[in-house]
Amino acid sequence: MTKKKLISIIVPCYNEQESLPLFYEEANRVSKKMKNVDFEMVFINDGSKDNTLKILRELSKKDERVRYISFSRNFGKEAGMYAGLEAVKGDYAAIMDADMQDPPEKLIEMYDIITHEEVDCVALYTESHEGYGFIRKSLTNLWYKIIDKISDSHQVPGARDFRLMTRQMVDSILSMKEYNRYTKGMFGFVGFETKWLAYNAPDRAAGTSKFNMKKLIKYAMEGVVAFSTTPLLLATYVGLLFCLVSFIAIVFIIIKTLIWGDPTSGWPSMVCIMMFISGIQLFFLGIIGMYLSKIYLEVKHRPVYLIKETEKDKRG
Ligand code: UDP
Ligand code: MG
Repeated sequence: MTKKKLISIIVPCYNEQESLPLFYEEANRVSKKMKNVDFEMVFINDGSKDNTLKILRELSKKDERVRYISFSRNFGKEAGMYAGLEAVKGDYAAIMDADMQDPPEKLIEMYDIITHEEVDCVALYTESHEGYGFIRKSLTNLWYKIIDKISDSHQVPGARDFRLMTRQMVDSILSMKEYNRYTKGMFGFVGFETKWLAYNAPDRAAGTSKFNMKKLIKYAMEGVVAFSTTPLLLATYVGLLFCLVSFIAIVFIIIKTLIWGDPTSGWPSMVCIMMFISGIQLFFLGIIGMYLSKIYLEVKHRPVYLIKETEKDKRG
């Protein structure tokens, strides 16, 4: 008899005390349905301030398939996903949110596809974000359109982090050692065959979203800086455009002066033009600064996350 394949589920958790028990129950139920595979669940406690760690300790005592990694502080979901990918042993790995917006039930269909079709990854995207407001929905859609145009990594609108992938793909992601990790872009960058399934993401099962507008904007900017150098080139294009406009203006002024003389006027418009151009210059300086700050963080080679405790510490 051939050995059963192992599916590892990676679940980043930040203050998920309400959702975690629900998630575990559901994942457990699904694992019982999938009799021909073994399961491993790796929860990452991302510096939660509630009882998340306590619940994880209990779950790991009760069920030996449950492992956990507890960070020394909140490092962010990206760090959590990275730690999970590094820790898992499975032939396949799936990343899932703890709040049931990524229903474990879907794993059955995803596993079926990844084993029967020639794909390395099965990923989900949502057509409707029921739990999110109108502004967040529209901004997200717009952002995906822009990033798809300017970056070299294809990104699907509404893509979630929920995906099941092969060991080969996990190892490829891990071979990318960058500090500023933007996993959505990295999946696109490593390539491989990905099959996209549409579904309607339900509302959070319990608790509240851990991403506010400020965090989301920071995340979006990181995505651009990590996978596109187009903003840096923009300065060149805008600079060239301004040179062209000023050249035409100079020729116009010379001709005007030769024909009609040179009455001094236009001081207010001059001030406006100067303000406009210095604004543009500062804007592009800011863009360069964004890239510079990323390089700064990158060359420091700081660890992406720090572990305080894992299930091994408790099991001995
Ligand atoms: N998360 C995390 N660290 C953070 C923020 C979020 O590990 O700093 C986890 C969170 O516990 C959840 C997943 O990332 O499992 C997605 O977060 P959330 O559901 O709040 O985001 P949303 O669905 O609103 O985008
Ligand atoms: Mg969520």
